Amino acid sequence: MTELERHSYDVVVIGAGGAGLRAAIEAHEQGLRTAVVCKSLFGKAHTVMAEGGIAAAMGNVNSRDSWQVHFRDTMRGGKFLNNWRMAELHAKEAPDRVWELETYGALFDRTGDGRISQRNFGGHEYPRLAHVGDRTGLELIRSLQQKIVALQQADRREHGDYEARLRVFAECTVTELLLDSPEPGQAGPAQTGPGQDTGATPPRVAGAFAYWRESGRFVVFEAPAVVLATGGIGKSFKVTSNSWEYTGDGHALALRAGASLINMEFVQFHPTGMVWPPSVKGILVTESVRGDGGVLRNSEGRRFMFDYIPEVFKDKYADNEDEADRWYTDPDNNRRPPELLPRDEVARAINAEVKAGRGTEHGGVFLDVSTRMSADEIIRRLPSMHHQFKELADVDITAEPMEVGPTCHYVMGGVEVDPDTAASRVPGLFAAGEVAGGMHGSNRLGGNSLSDLLVFGRRAGLGAADYVTALRDRPRVTEQVLAQAERTALAPFANLAGAGPAADQENPYTLHLELQQVMNDLVGIIRRGAEMAQALDRLDELKRRAEHVAVEGHRQFNPGWHLALDLRNMLLVSECVARSALRRTESRGGHTRDDYPRMDPRWRRKLLVCTADGAGVEVAERPQEPMRPDLVDLFEFTELQKYLTGEELAAGGAERA
Ligand code: FAD
Repeated sequence: MTELERHSYDVVVIGAGGAGLRAAIEAHEQGLRTAVVCKSLFGKAHTVMAEGGIAAAMGNVNSRDSWQVHFRDTMRGGKFLNNWRMAELHAKEAPDRVWELETYGALFDRTGDGRISQRNFGGHEYPRLAHVGDRTGLELIRSLQQKIVALQQADRREHGDYEARLRVFAECTVTELLLDSPEPGQAGPAQTGPGQDTGATPPRVAGAFAYWRESGRFVVFEAPAVVLATGGIGKSFKVTSNSWEYTGDGHALALRAGASLINMEFVQFHPTGMVWPPSVKGILVTESVRGDGGVLRNSEGRRFMFDYIPEVFKDKYADNEDEADRWYTDPDNNRRPPELLPRDEVARAINAEVKAGRGTEHGGVFLDVSTRMSADEIIRRLPSMHHQFKELADVDITAEPMEVGPTCHYVMGGVEVDPDTAASRVPGLFAAGEVAGGMHGSNRLGGNSLSDLLVFGRRAGLGAADYVTALRDRPRVTEQVLAQAERTALAPFANLAGAGPAADQENPYTLHLELQQVMNDLVGIIRRGAEMAQALDRLDELKRRAEHVAVEGHRQFNPGWHLALDLRNMLLVSECVARSALRRTESRGGHTRDDYPRMDPRWRRKLLVCTADGAGVEVAERPQEPMRPDLVDLFEFTELQKYLTGEELAAGGAERA
């Protein structure tokens, strides 16, 4: 085994987006020595790309807003499949997390009377998204980083070293979580992770194995607690708004360590990505464009969203242009425009229009804000969109419509966690942000991710700190475990050196392209049983071929090698998506099946839970926990009727949900 760089911390946070930074701040505030490890540059995470805003029921623009309304909207958006406790904590705590950001130095856009301004977004009953133009994520990351620097400066004053208690390891990729196997009775505090078998003593987290992207040298982080905050999985799909680091690493690390993933069939296709030119296909067009008045039209000029209001939303969305337009100035006496339906509904509608031959020349539809606001107003409210279209597509959105179509954007599925502590079922392993599952059910509302990162990032940091503080002994990493992690990471070089015939060697770029095509074509926005079965066969074949993936050159900055390691994760996570999607024989939220087009209340009561079984992925059904009666009471009976089974309704109260 080569010589390893070693570090020891109390808590290691993997990921430096909003969830990771908020978790690290909390773990540090609890007095623990904390490391943040991220595979991209510090400051480059998906969080920085977030445009529209952070959802929090502060009631600054409409005082009728409250956590209860936010909770209801979130559950509706997720089609009642959400982990209701997470949705409750999120709705209650999001305002405090936004105000707290201001204490870190964030500067949000203001209302006329100086409060944090809030904008409309799909599925949110009231204007709820705190924002900074359409560059909210940038401000969020900037303030969290500023807070980290402030903590390091305080550490310097106290301990003489900026990095004494909080250090960032940037451009450092984790490839493996390390576990120990404690003797019975040695395990320390009970962890309240979901689905834990309390009889046996499960292996505990003991650290993480990583490599520096620049030098390729290996690093070991020894730590009794690891917080996963690695974001999503979009790079497994061909058309996506996600950037290179979204390869499902955290999902795969968790699975391989023995944690479970839930809701993996639910992948969000954002309705509006750029469709032209091909080099920018998939780049996001923020929902704020619709929130600020943008309308969708097909190639015949028809404002088609009025044709796609589903039964469950009929009472909340305007069915004619006059009422929809009046809503912008008089929201209390008119229903919302259907362009602001939840994302899954709008994405399906656009898909249907294009399929029916009413799409644009490049396979999208038109999104027009130029007829709704003055050029100055557009440039002020949507500066990034104006710039993005001008630079990338030579389109001036103050004068002409944009061409848009669905793009893979977000994964609702993720690590199954305890809602209050963010603990997974592996002792010492926590997860927050996009890598965690449950909060958003079958479909996330726009703006609910940034708030999720802050609420559950904080809770994960706290959960990890409590766990470490109560530990009786620190877990240890054995040399055998490290040697295995190193062998696995070096396999792509060994495959080249293995002297097999060149024809047996596989190129990581080719495999990645094939994987993206499979997921796009066979497990994409509209799914069919036979196609998903075909996808699983293709994934099996790709997995076999990936065992022979071979890379040339050295470990010093070698993108082919990095991709080869990412592929292992993408294939595992794609299998979870395809297997769960095939199993769920209904359409709900981000999961739309042509062969089962309806939402089936019996399926609302079931979660699909993925675990790794060595060779592949197992999917099991688990009943959904019934909702607490006081939360059930927040909904009208007529609304519950749309989602719950007759049996549940007849049972009444908590048992009904
Ligand atoms: P990220 O911010 O993506 O951070 C992940 C981190 O993990 C990165 O630092 C990465 O380097 C690191 N990482 C990954 N794998 C490894 C590994 N193996 N080893 C080490 N480090 C690793 N949501 C909203 O609520 N409002 C919006 O307006 C909004 N706009 C969006 C616009 C765009 C274009 C996109 C793509 C998303 C948008 N979202 C929005 C969604 C939201 O930005 C993301 O869901 C959220 O930022 C995810 O945050 P995170 O902290 O979970 O992960």
